[in-house]
Amino acid sequence: MARLTILEFPDPRLRTRAVAVEKFDGALQRLIADMLETMYAAPGIGLAATQVNVHRALLVMDTSQEKNQPQVYINPELLSRDGLEVSEEGCLSVPNFFEQVERPARVRVRAQNPDGSVFERDLEGLDAVCLQHEMDHLAGKLFVDYLSSLKRERIRRRLEKEQKERREHPGAAPASPARSAARVI
Ligand code: ZN
Repeated sequence: MARLTILEFPDPRLRTRAVAVEKFDGALQRLIADMLETMYAAPGIGLAATQVNVHRALLVMDTSQEKNQPQVYINPELLSRDGLEVSEEGCLSVPNFFEQVERPARVRVRAQNPDGSVFERDLEGLDAVCLQHEMDHLAGKLFVDYLSSLKRERIRRRLEKEQKERREHPGAAPASPARSAARVI
């Protein structure tokens, strides 16, 4: 397995729309294993292929306390949405920023397993937030898109400055860690 590099906002590659996964082969199984390793190491509770510069409709997540219940969704589509809920979100591609985002509270999703078989599942709470956040990534959308343009600009400038400092001082200590890994999706 290998850890993959996570793209960071405002990298334009994060705006790419993923295309459907068609081959459920060994390469796909390796990608899933690498994405899970990368997500757990980050640490985060969800990761979309878009974030590791693979533009295929695939996402992984694990919202369990023990980090032992990986979920894989391939070619996911929402069948229904119900209610609205506001919750705090962070993102591995927008490090160290947390903002309130409103989304449907409950969703029903249809997706494929790593072997290609189709399943449907009802999600709510953190699972619903995480799935919708990751499906946005597959559509080239980021949680900062839900914020005011002023706030988004402020985040963009801060991250560009940090990215520039990292390029110029590659050995320097990383920025302070996220205050709550539990909401980093
Ligand atoms: Zn994210």
